[in-house]
Amino acid sequence: MAVPISQMWTVATYVMKKKLAGNKRYPLVLMLEPLFRCNLACAGCGKVQYPPHILKKQLTPEECFAAVEECGVPMVSLPGGEPLLHPQIVEIVNGLVARKKYIYLCTNALELKRRLPEFTPSKYLTFSVHLDGDREHHDFSVCREGGYDIAVEGIKEAVKRGFRVTTNATFFDGTDPNSVRGFFDEVMDMGVEGIVLSPGYSYDKAPDQNRFMGRARVRRLFRAILSNRKPTWKFNMSPLFLEFLMGDRKYECTPWGSPAFNIFGWQRPCYLLQDGYAESFQELIETTKWEEYGAASGNPKCANCMVSCGYEPTAVMDGFGSLKGFWGMVKGSFSMYRDQHALKLLNEPAPHGPATLVQIAEPARSANPSLEETHA
Ligand code: SF4
Ligand code: SF4
Repeated sequence: MAVPISQMWTVATYVMKKKLAGNKRYPLVLMLEPLFRCNLACAGCGKVQYPPHILKKQLTPEECFAAVEECGVPMVSLPGGEPLLHPQIVEIVNGLVARKKYIYLCTNALELKRRLPEFTPSKYLTFSVHLDGDREHHDFSVCREGGYDIAVEGIKEAVKRGFRVTTNATFFDGTDPNSVRGFFDEVMDMGVEGIVLSPGYSYDKAPDQNRFMGRARVRRLFRAILSNRKPTWKFNMSPLFLEFLMGDRKYECTPWGSPAFNIFGWQRPCYLLQDGYAESFQELIETTKWEEYGAASGNPKCANCMVSCGYEPTAVMDGFGSLKGFWGMVKGSFSMYRDQHALKLLNEPAPHGPATLVQIAEPARSANPSLEETHA
């Protein structure tokens, strides 16, 4: 695992304190969406299809700080939309660093190189760069030719300036595991701290509905990708979550582990679904019908979900909440997961040919005229 010891210690002591206090539902990482607008329009995205008047809105820094303090998490993920399009993103980041929160600023990196001088390297700040595979696959996935090269330039510059950098990939049906393994080599050569990955969630709003996988397909794909690892590969994720993706562990979803806050309020029940909003974190925890979510609930919206925001908190709480879990995490951090059967999977043809490119309308750049410049 590539996560620094100080961060692991912070999370471990946080989980143990919650456990000793008998707290059954507590958050680990806040998914803080400061805005929904973006300078890309990826085919699998469930966020940028909002109407222009919604895409114009954004959280203020004060609203961001209040949400973080209200739920008390040790880690904050800043997805979106594209957070670097928020005019006060530097103020938001600096305020969270001052509060000693470990932040993952998720970015497609189109603006990263240009904006880097405004940020200060810190152990609390990581740029989590959206990169969905090698050049061909990434550009296809984000529906933007040249997107990979721009992102890589941003990554290299950020590494050079001493920032923590991870890459963040979402994989869909038709993914070639061999190409992903080659991509891991490329990414590690760029000097990043580690790789983050997840299967895609089948958003109702995503324009391409043919790219999502069922659970059996997810396990097969990740077994092929993550078995027989190279020692150079580092993952910025719980090894137990990766074992879950490979089909070696059975976990239930912990939707309250990654609560989502955005311009509408506290989203029920998770980052992916929108079954209404609560006005406060306490109201979210106390009034959400949690038993109606997760694969075991029979809710069809959860049936095929194995996404990190729901299942990685389960893995982290397992890893830091019991000796057995902790031992599994230690073993997983050093194992190469040798598996002959998985080697054979690498020689099989991909289940489908590559999906056709989905061209969708550009996101509402006019929501903020200054964005036009960023795409010129
Ligand atoms: S980079 Fe792609 S997936 Fe991320 S918010 Fe923008 S359009 Fe959506
Ligand atoms: S299973 Fe997935 S969609 Fe359902 S609550 Fe959990 S994270 Fe959300």
